[in-house]
Amino acid sequence: MKADRKEKADSGGNIDIAKSSNFIREIIEEDIRNNKNDGRVHTRFPPEPNGYLHIGHAKSICFNFGVAEEYGGLCNLRFDDTNPTKEETEYVDSIMADIRWLGYDWEDRLYYASDYFGKLYEYAVDLIKKGKAYVCDLSADEIREYRGTLTEPGKESPYRNRTVEENLDLLERMKNGEFPDGSRVLRAKIDMAAGNLNMRDPVMYRILHASHHRTKDEWCIYPMYDWAHGQSDSIEGITHSLCDVAFEDHRPLYDWFLIQLGVHKPQQIEFARLNLTYTILSKRFLRRLVEEGYVKGWDDPRMPTLSGLHRRGYTPESIRNFQERIGMAKRASVVDIALLEHTLREDLNIRADRVMAVLNPLKVVIENYPEGKIEKLDAINNPEDVSAGSRKIPFSREIYIEADDFMEDPPKKFFRLSPGNEVRLKHAYFIKCEKVIKDNSGKITELRCSYDPATKSGEATDGRRVKGTLHWVSSEHAVDAEVRLYEYLFTKEDPNEVEGGKDFTSNINPDSLKVLTGCKVEPSLASAKPGDRFQFLRHGYFCVDPDTTEGKPVFNRTVGLRDTWAKVKGK
Ligand code: ATP
Ligand code: MG
Repeated sequence: MKADRKEKADSGGNIDIAKSSNFIREIIEEDIRNNKNDGRVHTRFPPEPNGYLHIGHAKSICFNFGVAEEYGGLCNLRFDDTNPTKEETEYVDSIMADIRWLGYDWEDRLYYASDYFGKLYEYAVDLIKKGKAYVCDLSADEIREYRGTLTEPGKESPYRNRTVEENLDLLERMKNGEFPDGSRVLRAKIDMAAGNLNMRDPVMYRILHASHHRTKDEWCIYPMYDWAHGQSDSIEGITHSLCDVAFEDHRPLYDWFLIQLGVHKPQQIEFARLNLTYTILSKRFLRRLVEEGYVKGWDDPRMPTLSGLHRRGYTPESIRNFQERIGMAKRASVVDIALLEHTLREDLNIRADRVMAVLNPLKVVIENYPEGKIEKLDAINNPEDVSAGSRKIPFSREIYIEADDFMEDPPKKFFRLSPGNEVRLKHAYFIKCEKVIKDNSGKITELRCSYDPATKSGEATDGRRVKGTLHWVSSEHAVDAEVRLYEYLFTKEDPNEVEGGKDFTSNINPDSLKVLTGCKVEPSLASAKPGDRFQFLRHGYFCVDPDTTEGKPVFNRTVGLRDTWAKVKGK
């Protein structure tokens, strides 16, 4: 099963990110050749402002905006804001910020389904006049009961044969606020025996005396998503409505509405929803993680939200490359999160300057190095990018190394520091451990070392070799930092795989965040700004968190260096 999933995800997972050709592009190219819609390509990204965007939405964003760009077309941003009780301006703002961050621009084409409430009402009146819609007084429970099941046809509502006049009158009075919430709905009159349950006289309008984030108290009836969505696309002249397969069964309904109304009919094309291992991608569940305090907020760096990934240190380029790589298959698959991380490393490898940070410091005094002497040593910023230049790092008699890089009684293949053993300090000299100092409890508190002044180039003049190279910082110059290490938020590859009676929260990883204080980083990082990205040598890629205060940087580990994807692929 696991191998199978990886295989699926890898179709298109080559290092050269070629535009993966796919069935959607084929349909669009065919339409352009046939001059359908006068050869126009016009798409839209239609989020519901009821939560923050996640990496699954990025698939839709990259695709809708990407296709428009590719074929010289346009892409709108439209908020499908038909549900006043769950929608907030905070979500609208975050969604816009996230799309911009990904690098896409809707220019002046920002729309809201709520802009069309008036038009949708006119359309509803039109359908009533055509005998295609009726006001129904059944309760929500009764409607559900009458709908039937996949194996049994539904039953017609006793209100189905109201006259046009009565329906028009009742709809108007619904709109005017004469009836309480839930007392009546407007339904399409289609077919209660239809095989597709969406076609069994679906609800178009419900009564809801609720204030809307934009239309405020103007309306007390609200269109259902299914009634608003297709008409909104039509009004905007959308040519290709790209959406996920969840909407496949709704397509006949969308088409039915548009055909009855005799208006422009976009072509809806479905693609597979993105699923990622170790990840939950559903706003409903993500909201629970936030509201129940499992994470610190929507932008917690462990969240798969775009704001969380942003804060974690993901680059927009890596997310776009990932989307291109996984392509647009219609068949559902679960993508290995290791592929996302691999794509991220590829991008950060080119972008991130290498710096030295000691996460668990152990003091080292170099006894034969003159007291008070400070040397400024050359350190190259990024071996993958010469244009990144180099910087100077201070070296002095007292430094910190990683506590894990020393063992008093090492096993055979331990090439780092141990009593009597010599190692190289990155960008500096060879040092040798002469003495171990401990406190009363036996804990190692300090090492006494010697250095060889003739090894400044990083090599010994007499040709002797050392196997280990350690990172370090000068203790006098080091900057104190907090470092936050992350693991997957869930312990199971499929977080929804749960035992009876439990839900996905039972799979939450209790160790998904580890905060390290008292870390020592090189002085060049004192001026690092939130969002700056670095590779901490031997530790992985890190990004400066917005919690940073003057002189006290906070870093998030974006991703470690070990590339499990490349390993699987044998690269
Ligand atoms: P969620 O279930 O997370 O709430 P949603 O589909 O209800 O998602 P919308 O705001 O309606 O969220 O989504 C906007 C667009 O993003 C939709 O057109 C939908 O097709 C797309 N989308 C949402 N989740 C995914 C996903 N996991 N993969 C691909 N596209 C997605
Ligand atoms: Mg939705």
